Amino acid sequence: MASLIQNALELIKVTKHYGDGSNFTNKVALDALDLKIKRGTIFGLLGPNGAGKSTTINIISGLTRKSGGSVYIWGYDQDKYPEMTRSCIGVVPQELNLDPFLCPRDALEIQAGLFGIRKADRKTSEILEKVGLSNVKNAYSRSLSGGMRRRLLIAKALVHSPPILILDEPTAGVDIELREMLWDYILELNELGTTIVLTTHYLEEAQKICDQIGILSNGILVEHGDTKFLLNKINTKVLIIHPDKNLNEIPSFPSFIVSSLRADGALELSFDKTVVSTEEVLDICRSSKVSIRDIATSEPDLEDVFKLATEK
Ligand code: ADP
Ligand code: MG
Repeated sequence: MASLIQNALELIKVTKHYGDGSNFTNKVALDALDLKIKRGTIFGLLGPNGAGKSTTINIISGLTRKSGGSVYIWGYDQDKYPEMTRSCIGVVPQELNLDPFLCPRDALEIQAGLFGIRKADRKTSEILEKVGLSNVKNAYSRSLSGGMRRRLLIAKALVHSPPILILDEPTAGVDIELREMLWDYILELNELGTTIVLTTHYLEEAQKICDQIGILSNGILVEHGDTKFLLNKINTKVLIIHPDKNLNEIPSFPSFIVSSLRADGALELSFDKTVVSTEEVLDICRSSKVSIRDIATSEPDLEDVFKLATEK
């Protein structure tokens, strides 16, 4: 059956209310959320603080009870097969909650025991090596740095070799060097077939690493699709023109071109690419007697998609 699975995860009309249901305390964190995450992808769940990302992840991982709807994990209904579906996922939570008196090796051994993995089948040393914790495998967890704790949480999520790895803000508070190492490792796991679901605040990184993106806002999925496709939806294009001679003032342009002069003397022109082409803008420039030394364009990034989606 597993070979036929197309969606690693499927959420159908998942709703979450926090509180006792009275009008004063009730909070709708997820509002009939439909979400499909394809097998083999790296999926980024993005959204502002309080959008419902952690709630979504905690429901999938069985830490939070949903108020309504269905969750299918690797094709199995979470409510009908709680144990099997839990064994299909490894979860790296947002909080760095570790037993302070356990060392990394024991933490992994205990976790493997919880999943019923026999001693002979455990991969404790291999995993510790992979996440770079071999040299502190016997140290109390409380003596580990934030970055090392994050790596230990990832290691714990991997003991049962789950086909789906879910990470909630994995690089929050992690320095750049370690962040790059974590992303490399995540990419490596994905190449070996693991489906990755992550939330992150670093849009630039999400843009680099995620094949698919979903943007949550107030418990509603406001965008969902291929990263490339979403970037393409941004119609604003920016041309940066370095003139031959310094311009004393900005030439007058038609109203569909927004122009400004940068501190370095370059002329920045932004326009809607569905209204006017780059070629036409260049022609307008030339006819305004701007002699062009060099041209650069600035492509839209996920930040633009994010702004547009969450401002709706
Ligand atoms: P995100 O991870 O995107 O920042 P969360 O899923 O943590 O968002 O939160 C979504 C909404 O639900 C927020 O408004 C938050 O305040 C609320 N919320 C989260 N957890 C609880 C809880 N245990 N009790 C009450 N409200 C909660
Ligand atoms: Mg969160």
